[in-house]
Amino acid sequence: MTETYVCPHCGTTQERSYRVRLIIVTCPECGENGRHVHASYVDLLDEVPEEDKPDEWSRMPLDERLLDAAKRGIVELRSS
Ligand SMILES: [Zn+2]
Repeated sequence: MTETYVCPHCGTTQERSYRVRLIIVTCPECGENGRHVHASYVDLLDEVPEEDKPDEWSRMPLDERLLDAAKRGIVELRSS
């Protein structure tokens, strides 16, 4: 059983054997070091209503979207 994490910059996915919210790794595709977001949160972020998105949403990398949405209570960060 593997878990999928998504690069916040280019969307490349990586597999890990454990499940956490974010992993900090260097992406093999774009070379950026960053917080790769668990794929389940990517789905949740897709469901954030337009009116709840800040103006800069489209320019924010995935990890910032997730932390922003969590801070405002739109997405709940679960520990498992
Ligand atoms: Zn990348």
